[in-house]
Amino acid sequence: MDALFEAEFSPLSDSGRLLSKCGKCLRYVRYISTQPSRLYCGTCEEIYYIPQKGTIKLYKELTCPLDNFELLIFSMPGPEGKSFPLCPFCYNSPPFEGIETLFGAAKTGSAVKPGKGAGMPCFLCPHPTCQYSMISQGVCACPECNGTLVLDPVSAPKWRLYCNMCNCLVFLPEGAHRISTTRDHCPECDSTIIEVDFNKKTTPLKDGATLHVGCVLCDELLHSLVVMKHGKSFSRHRGRGRGRGRGRRGGRGRGSRKQEDPKMSFHGF
Ligand SMILES: [Zn+2]
Ligand SMILES: [Zn+2]
Ligand SMILES: [Zn+2]
Ligand SMILES: [Zn+2]
Ligand SMILES: [Zn+2]
Repeated sequence: MDALFEAEFSPLSDSGRLLSKCGKCLRYVRYISTQPSRLYCGTCEEIYYIPQKGTIKLYKELTCPLDNFELLIFSMPGPEGKSFPLCPFCYNSPPFEGIETLFGAAKTGSAVKPGKGAGMPCFLCPHPTCQYSMISQGVCACPECNGTLVLDPVSAPKWRLYCNMCNCLVFLPEGAHRISTTRDHCPECDSTIIEVDFNKKTTPLKDGATLHVGCVLCDELLHSLVVMKHGKSFSRHRGRGRGRGRGRRGGRGRGSRKQEDPKMSFHGF
């Protein structure tokens, strides 16, 4: 209520820049840059808090499949700053029970501090059918913490994975045209299979082929092309429980995590 009052009586609510479409009224919401920066929908008279200390842009006019709000990309400053999509509505009202536990866990190791309220960027979104969620964009377990390495969707041409909890970064083959996650999982380690469309000129594949599909940990070629930053090892042989062995398998993969990880207890949604 406080926040609403503040926005209504601030001249900035008129002068803020139009940023993205509100999923409720389909008009543009304004970006108010004074601290704490936030979005304001004048039609709905709603405030949406967003992450602070970074830049925020429209994300390719994509919309959240849950509430129709246009997605935004938030970029933290610096060459190693993460960029991540978020839905203004989900960020402020995460559509999942028990999500606060997840935030609690995420906040400790992370530089991502929501303005006010909970703050659920898409990389923490556990919705199984949202194509921007952690479930779709997550690739494998972070070798350094309990987080998940997710594909940075706007990192081209310096494609990379970042951890949704710590500052672990993994650089993927540079200069690839496109790198995307698939719906398939590695039979060896349960990581998400990724698809890499290499640049014609720099492709490491035979006969100038450009398309390669594989697991970042188990595929010889992909694994030889990735570089890990802020972490000691990035290998299924040394990481926590990423090995081939029967007993160690399955605990960290996305598909099987619901039994073991209390953070994912809302997985069945
Ligand atoms: Zn609205
Ligand atoms: Zn949403
Ligand atoms: Zn989502
Ligand atoms: Zn991590
Ligand atoms: Zn694998």
